[in-house]
Amino acid sequence: MSKNFGLFILIAGFVCLGFSMFEFLTLDMWETPKYFWLAFVALPLLFFGFVLSAPRIQRSLLNQQRDNIRETMKVMADGLREGLHATNKICEKCNHRNEASAIYCSHCGTAL
Ligand SMILES: [Zn+2]
Repeated sequence: MSKNFGLFILIAGFVCLGFSMFEFLTLDMWETPKYFWLAFVALPLLFFGFVLSAPRIQRSLLNQQRDNIRETMKVMADGLREGLHATNKICEKCNHRNEASAIYCSHCGTAL
C-alpha cells in the first residue's frame, strides 16, 4: 500500500478533477456548481501524487533504458561475432568453415 500511495493519490486527484470538470460541463446556466471545490482538492492531490510517484516512474524508466542498452550491447556483440566469423577460412574443397588461424582444414585436411 505504501508503495502505491503516490499512485493512489494521483488517481484520487484525477477522479476529483474529472468529477468537478464533469459537473461544471454538464451544469445548466442557472445552476451553481456544488462540487467545483473538488477541483481545488484535486490540484494538491495531483501535485503530491506526482511528487510521490515520480521516483517510481523514474526507476521504471531507468530499468527500461538499461534493457535497451543491454539489447544494443547484445546486437553489437552478435555483429562482432558475425564479423569474426566472416574472416574465418572456408575450405575450397569441402566448404568447411575453419578458424582464421587454421592452416589445414579440420574436416578434410586440405591446406588452406
Ligand atoms: Zn575441407
